[in-house]
Amino acid sequence: MKIPLVDLKAQYSSIKSEIDNAIAKVIAKTSFILGEEVSSFENEFSNFCDTRYAVGVSSGTAALQLALVSLGIGEGDEVITTPFTFIATSESILEVGAHPVFVDIEEDTYNIDVKLVEKAITRKTKAIIPVHLYGHPVDMDPLMEIARKHNIAVIEDACQAHGALYKGRKVGSIGDAGCFSFYPGKNLGCYGDGGMLVTNNEQIFEKTKLLRDHGRSDKYTHIAHGYNFRLDGIQAAILKVKLKYLEKWNDKRRKNAGIYNEGLSPLGSVTQPVEKEYAKHVYHLYVIRIKERDKLKLLLSENSIDTGIHYPIPLHKQPVYKKIGLSDKKLPVSEKCAKDILSLPIYAELEEDDIRKICNLIAEF
Ligand SMILES: *Cc1c(COP(=O)(O)O)cnc(C)c1O
Repeated sequence: MKIPLVDLKAQYSSIKSEIDNAIAKVIAKTSFILGEEVSSFENEFSNFCDTRYAVGVSSGTAALQLALVSLGIGEGDEVITTPFTFIATSESILEVGAHPVFVDIEEDTYNIDVKLVEKAITRKTKAIIPVHLYGHPVDMDPLMEIARKHNIAVIEDACQAHGALYKGRKVGSIGDAGCFSFYPGKNLGCYGDGGMLVTNNEQIFEKTKLLRDHGRSDKYTHIAHGYNFRLDGIQAAILKVKLKYLEKWNDKRRKNAGIYNEGLSPLGSVTQPVEKEYAKHVYHLYVIRIKERDKLKLLLSENSIDTGIHYPIPLHKQPVYKKIGLSDKKLPVSEKCAKDILSLPIYAELEEDDIRKICNLIAEF
């Protein structure tokens, strides 16, 4: 039996009738774009995140872009972020005309090294985008302190961390804005593209709501240069069903991580993920480090086990960024980690026996 990296079918089977009904209702009402389902999901999601506001958008990338635009960030501005993330993080910065400044990561959490942030601040720095990578929160208190001291905005990229806690607070609710992706494989995923911006800041909320829908104040009056970045009704209806299960699924991911930790801890050759005392990790990904990673990946694949590498090339080394001079910088921790990280299957429906099988294969390796 094959063990995939993510099993969206297993999850769908467990909630099929609820999902099918929710979709059918939206179709019956033909409430396809924004509408009632979207606003009620926005309410539920802002409650979930403990924020005053939430705006449903078309993707996590759109949420990041709208956060930057709403804060007035653009041409000539610098935005500090991590090179150890999915490219959408820096795409949004470049898309608004700003310049990404990469700061290296911590070797244990793989998150931006907050101790290195202050040195990277210049007169042009307007925002920091910390990424709660793999579902483990960034150390937000010292980061917020630096940002407040220098009057810089903080946009949390929480696209991999739905429900993760930092000192008991939901990620996404700590900075000026929090951005979530509902890409199907995320801890909370829809059946297409979708995203959300959450905030306690009324101005960011109003601006994001205006800009996601062509900058319109009414049907054919446009008061700002906007975008078509709307969430659709079918996705919102699906997400409303799935939000009820998110905590349960996250707990199952945590339980699976515990089984891995136990099975892998006798092996000196494997570096396990950490969970800092300030964190509740939601294990979007369970990432180990091991020498000869590519050989282990091959061995697992020969045994019908899918794994992933998130991500094999740090952003500053991406070919697309060579052309614009972002590749010259030395970010040694990111470069080192990219060579030996490996993501093992961790989805909620994964069986304990499967995890034991994977651990045994790694032990033999
Ligand atoms: C998935 C992801 C995004 C982008 O989300 P989309 O919904 O795919 O646009 C941004 N940042 C991180 C860290 C992600 O994992």
